[in-house]
Amino acid sequence: MKKLVTILTLFIMIITCIVPLSAKTKVKVAYPIQDGLTEISENGVFSGYTYDYLKELERFTDFEFEFVTLEGDVNDQLVAALEKVKNGELDLMGAIIYDESLASIYDYTSTNYGMGNMALYVSANNANINETNIYSMKNLKVGVLSSSNKKNPSLDKFGETNGIVIEQVCYDSFEKMNQALEKGDVDSISVSEQSALKGNYRVVATYSPRPFYLATTKGNSHLISELNDAMTKLNKEQPTLMSELHDEYFSLRNNEFSLTDSEKAFIQENPVIEVAFLGGKAPFQSMNGQGDISGITVDVLDSIGKLAGIQFKYVYTESYDEYRKWVSEGDYMLLGGIASPYHSQEEKYTLSRSFLESSVELVLVKNIEATDIYNHTIALPKGISVTNDYEGKVKYFDNPLACLDAVESGKADYTYLNSHTAMFYNTSSKYDNINMIPQEKNYSQKTSIAIRNDVSSQLTNIINKGIDSVTALQIQDIVFKNATYVKEDLSLIDYIQENPVEFILFGLVLLGLYLSLRYYTKLKNDKKIRREYERFQQISELSGDCFLEYNIAKDCLTLSGGGAFLLSSVLIYPDYLKNCYRESERIRSVLNTLQTFNEECYIEFLDGEKRWQNVLLQPIYDNQNQATHIIGKVTDIQAQKEEQLLWRELAQRDSLTKIYNSAACRDLINKFLEEEKNYKGRLAFIILDIDHFKSINDQYGHYFGDRVLQELAMTLSRVTKSTDILGRVGGDEFIIGLKYPESIEYVEVYCQRLLEVVSHHICKDKEIDVTVSLGVAFSRKANTFDDLYQFADQALYQVKKTGRNHYQLYNTLEKDEN
Ligand code: GH3
Ligand code: MG
Repeated sequence: MKKLVTILTLFIMIITCIVPLSAKTKVKVAYPIQDGLTEISENGVFSGYTYDYLKELERFTDFEFEFVTLEGDVNDQLVAALEKVKNGELDLMGAIIYDESLASIYDYTSTNYGMGNMALYVSANNANINETNIYSMKNLKVGVLSSSNKKNPSLDKFGETNGIVIEQVCYDSFEKMNQALEKGDVDSISVSEQSALKGNYRVVATYSPRPFYLATTKGNSHLISELNDAMTKLNKEQPTLMSELHDEYFSLRNNEFSLTDSEKAFIQENPVIEVAFLGGKAPFQSMNGQGDISGITVDVLDSIGKLAGIQFKYVYTESYDEYRKWVSEGDYMLLGGIASPYHSQEEKYTLSRSFLESSVELVLVKNIEATDIYNHTIALPKGISVTNDYEGKVKYFDNPLACLDAVESGKADYTYLNSHTAMFYNTSSKYDNINMIPQEKNYSQKTSIAIRNDVSSQLTNIINKGIDSVTALQIQDIVFKNATYVKEDLSLIDYIQENPVEFILFGLVLLGLYLSLRYYTKLKNDKKIRREYERFQQISELSGDCFLEYNIAKDCLTLSGGGAFLLSSVLIYPDYLKNCYRESERIRSVLNTLQTFNEECYIEFLDGEKRWQNVLLQPIYDNQNQATHIIGKVTDIQAQKEEQLLWRELAQRDSLTKIYNSAACRDLINKFLEEEKNYKGRLAFIILDIDHFKSINDQYGHYFGDRVLQELAMTLSRVTKSTDILGRVGGDEFIIGLKYPESIEYVEVYCQRLLEVVSHHICKDKEIDVTVSLGVAFSRKANTFDDLYQFADQALYQVKKTGRNHYQLYNTLEKDEN
């Protein structure tokens, strides 16, 4: 018996191996290698926007996609792909922009599967143009690809909108355009974002989003209709897929760090590079008691070193004269943490791009007024030259810390400090005799690295690329880390843990010592925590976020940070929960669950404007594991949210007519039917299909056909209520979901009106008669979109069979009593 079972099992296994359970149709997809869209790694792994999308889509089809690579360079591959899909050798290709002439050769899916932007690229080494300052430029020379010398109107439009006069220079090949960029003949070049130029380029702006589609061999209607159906399903299951793929393959290219061959060669010759620091300038560069050099500049350089594979070695002095000697003799390739525009002494060096911008503080002794400083003595770091007006009123010191100490001790009356530096020293030591007054924004100071002029320009490029790659977020972390106290090690406890035997022997002695130390440490820590909190407050003022701290025992909420003033007129709320102030339910829920709360919320500001904010709330525990505080941060995410909403909105729209696409119609109607599933007659579902649309296309061209579709969509938008659901579900097929129809007569009059409006108003200038046919189904309990579509389609079929330009009801309107 056992033997029989084994034989049977084997037999079944063999059968299942030989006969596939369901045979899938092979669909050959043209796979021209394009960065970002269709990539292939060295070990033959496929990836990219189109590839990932098709793999997701495959799950909803009976197809098995076979990706076919092609020979030659990118252009050859694209030409071959277009040709092979045209003649049916291959079935499908992606990333096709809608174009009238292409649409007569290929069949397009009815919805797009992504949006591509045009992008303005500059050379990676261009220190003058970046993502922010491009919008304040007056003129910009842009290279565009065009063999017919045709300018790109949407680029002009981009310029107009942003107040930039754009001069377009046409090139008939990418090579020529690229050479012009390298020579500096143009500031920037315009290429589609899908080209994803890597390495030597940076994206500084994007414009003109355009939908792209899948296209098949003309007449392969089985493939197109199954793709359309699968796209609808995929869109429903993963509505954010397109924006996720876009982020993965297109958006982040800017921060990629890659080096040219000559830059790599430079690093190979110079694996260790020495950097000279003039110290006394925390939190940028300073030395602690153990002789460790640390600070923001050190961390930024370390990050760049990690990316580029360079080891930076730091030499440090707090004496300006020693530093000056190093600089004038050019001992070191790099100087760290140079503030501009005040660097007059490093003439042998060129500045990199800046990695941090700080405001400036006026530091002055308490007994003089800010308006009166010009009669007093200024303390300046050595090396800064001043105008004659200051004659006899300047005292020079080695570094910023020495200037601050001079003002505190009365050797000078005032000085100017970088705000990060001012705040650091003011909170880590005690300065009793000074006031600090923030200066206007246009007095800002930027911090850079300086590169010795005679070193090959490769190093400047490497440093600049590195600074570009260290994102704003990383810099924020680096600043925060360096401007915050590092918790001191509890060496006593470490000792106890590591030496249990000694601890037993000397336990009593240590315990006595520990207890007496504890009281002292507590006093010291309380003071330190207070100071740390003050410092945190000051740092948070610099950011636009709103920070909050809720003291559980005192029921008191305190707000701080630049964003706090926009959200609330009061910054301290005693008896916060007792008085049920605004948003108190969020704090209450964190208090009840003791879970972190991290959500996007739509919050009203003091001026009445509502904006999307990310709210993070987190409980904080003491040594006994008791929650004592809830701390949190409210960050403005309106800009990201708007972009997300725009993507979602675009994903719901049919790109030709701008009304809902098929996936969105299905979702909206199913949602409505689900809410009304216990009732009859809540929806009249109308399918509208243009009569003999193929012959309109044949007679007047596909482009005119598109215009008919657009005009029809506009007309239908006018006659439907905003609460009704209107969409284009396929080529010339539209649907209208009329909510809560009053009576069967009402719907009949409505349909009659639709027929009249269409035949009287669509494309009258061509004097052609555009008519439509309508099929109508009324909903019953528990109907879905698919049910109603099928019913209405049957009615439509009857109309088409019996003469067109008419409507037919599939069923009657039966209503529930209520
Ligand atoms: P009928 O009266 O039976 O509906 O005849 P018809 O010619 O309208 O047939 P059908 O509805 O099946 O044909 C729809 C045609 O619409 C087929 C296709 O060529 C065309 N079409 C599909 N999508 C588009 C588009 O986006 N633009 C244009 N111009 N034509 C399209
Ligand atoms: Mg039709």
